[in-house]
Amino acid sequence: MATFSKLGISKDLIKGLNELNIVQPSEIQELAIPILMGQNTDFIGQAQTGTGKTAAFGLPLLEKINHKRPEVQGLIIAPTRELCQQIAKQLFKFTKYTEKIFIESVYGGADMQVQIQRLKRPTHIIVATPGRLMDLIKKKVVDISQARYVVLDEADEMLSMGFKQDIHTIFDFVPKEKTVWLFSATVPEGIREIINKFLRSDAQQIQLNRNAGINANIRHEYMSCSSKDKLQELTHFLSYNKDARGMIFCQTKQAARTLTKQLLAKNFDVDVIEGDMGQRDRDKVMRKFKGEKLDLLVATDIAARGIDVQGLSFVLHYQLPQQTEYYTHRSGRTGRAGEKGNSILFVSEREKRTMHELEKSLKIKINPLN
Ligand code: AMP
Repeated sequence: MATFSKLGISKDLIKGLNELNIVQPSEIQELAIPILMGQNTDFIGQAQTGTGKTAAFGLPLLEKINHKRPEVQGLIIAPTRELCQQIAKQLFKFTKYTEKIFIESVYGGADMQVQIQRLKRPTHIIVATPGRLMDLIKKKVVDISQARYVVLDEADEMLSMGFKQDIHTIFDFVPKEKTVWLFSATVPEGIREIINKFLRSDAQQIQLNRNAGINANIRHEYMSCSSKDKLQELTHFLSYNKDARGMIFCQTKQAARTLTKQLLAKNFDVDVIEGDMGQRDRDKVMRKFKGEKLDLLVATDIAARGIDVQGLSFVLHYQLPQQTEYYTHRSGRTGRAGEKGNSILFVSEREKRTMHELEKSLKIKINPLN
């Protein structure tokens, strides 16, 4: 059986991992860590969130950092502020027993001056959204000319958020001799382009079984209801599952806000996370939700991207996702780290076709909810 020690991870990091109950490497960790720990190999990992991919690239990256050198040696680029914060936090926890490795996260929507101030301290790893990183580079307050390890996390999502140009430009500022690790759930044309342009032709590639990624621990069920009955059905569902923790997904910010108000009016303790909210409010909601002071969270796809919350017993699709990939990401919030989860779709007659398309393309079976 693989252990972190056999994969080449050092004792001090393992001690930190064990404290987080990370004892047995997950599939992606078992596959990726030996490759990334080796001689500087470029790497393409096709895997979803919830598979443990942060540790899969984070641990080898931490092993590569020379803590005695004060410059930025590792750069992790991710699509959203929440994901950046989450990655930085995980890495920080992993290093509890190691020599000090300084990690900073920078992202849009937060005070740039504060970030600039923090970047004046020695920083070994920067975790950044592409847009904010470009702004900081232009202001000459961040120097990534020594960043020999570049990780692109959720690369497909960065492209669909319009960060393509920023990503291309960022590569002008990192050293010519570098190692690039790219993680993406899918490999559309834009990602191919990045791979061809910035990764060596001998880059190693691994693909985690797409279905194992999505439905190993997740039960998919649907409830038929007309659009106008959805609120009532949802109310029933939530009343019946009073102690369950879950997320409810809408397609648009407006729909998410409206639904939240409707649920609050019915006395459900619920909050919302959507893209128009300020950084402070988003953080506040996430702290409440992660700290289990809140059991129900209404969310839009982009705002919830990459959020890691353990122990959710369900994800509810109040409106179906606009892209197949969003279904994977939504349902990935439940059934994480070996736990069981339910992904429940509220579908009107009109939405059934989309649901069948999801079943087909993801090779999953969505059964009627009992
Ligand atoms: P990620 O896919 O990186 O977002 O990780 C999902 C969650 O699984 C995080 O909360 C990790 O702390 C946790 N995790 C990562 N690797 C393992 C592991 N090998 N065993 C148990 N939990 C893990």
